[in-house]
Amino acid sequence: MRAGILTVGDELLAGDTVDTNATWLAERLTDRGVTVERISTVPDRTEAIAELVAEYSDRYDVVIVTGGLGPTHDDVTMDGVAAAFGRELRTDEQALEWLEADGYSRGDLATGTADLPEGSDPLHNEAGVAPGCILENVYVFPGVPDEMKAMFESVADRFAGTIRHVEHVTIDEAESALIERFAQLREQFGVKVGSYPGETVRVKIEHEDESVVREAAAWLEANAVVS
Ligand code: AMP
Ligand code: MG
Repeated sequence: MRAGILTVGDELLAGDTVDTNATWLAERLTDRGVTVERISTVPDRTEAIAELVAEYSDRYDVVIVTGGLGPTHDDVTMDGVAAAFGRELRTDEQALEWLEADGYSRGDLATGTADLPEGSDPLHNEAGVAPGCILENVYVFPGVPDEMKAMFESVADRFAGTIRHVEHVTIDEAESALIERFAQLREQFGVKVGSYPGETVRVKIEHEDESVVREAAAWLEANAVVS
C-alpha cells in the first residue's frame, strides 16, 4: 500500500509550529508496512487543499490529511476535501449526535463542525470535538496531535502492507569510505541501504526477510575499519 500525507496549516508553513503530525504518521504507516511516497504541507486555503487532495487521491492508495478542522474561519479542510471530489458539505447526523453528547446544542456555532463532505463516513474524535471523515481513499483527521493520533488508531487496521525489517549500524568512518561496502551490501544481500552521516554514519539496512537484514548488518559491522 502506498500513501500520501498532507498536513494543512499556515502556522506550519510559517515555521511557527513543527509538523510533528507528518513525522508521527510516517512512522506509524511505515511500521504497518505502508510505503509513504510523499508528504506535503498546504496553507489554510480551500483551492490549495482541493488541488493536492485530488492529485494525491489519484496517485496513492490512501491519503491522510490532518489539520484545519473545526468552526473557525481558517478551518477549511473539509471544504477543500469536498471540492476535490466535486461534492458539497452537508451536516452529518451522526457527527451532530456526537457533538450533542459532548454538550453542544444544535443551534450552537460549533455545529458547523458537523459539516462533512457529502457521501463521506464520519470519524469520531475520541480526544476532542471536531469529527474527521473518510471519503473514498482520503482520511481526514484533526490537527491537534493527540486527537489525530487517537483517530488514526481507530482506523489503523485499514493501513497495511508488507512489513520490512530494519537494522541500524553506526560506523565511525567517513561516508565516502563506505561506497564500496554499500555496493557489496546491496549486491550480496539485496538489501535497501540508507546512509545518514553526522558525526558518525548511521547506516539503515532494510529487507522483508529479517534474517537477511541481520546477516547484512553483521557483515557490515565485521567489515568496519576500527580506528
Ligand atoms: P487545526 O486543526 O488546524 O485547527 O490545528 C489545531 C492545533 O493543532 C493547532 O495548535 C495547530 O498548530 C496544531 N497542529 C495542526 N497541524 C499540526 C501538525 N501537522 N503538527 C503539529 N501540530 C499541528
Ligand atoms: Mg489550523
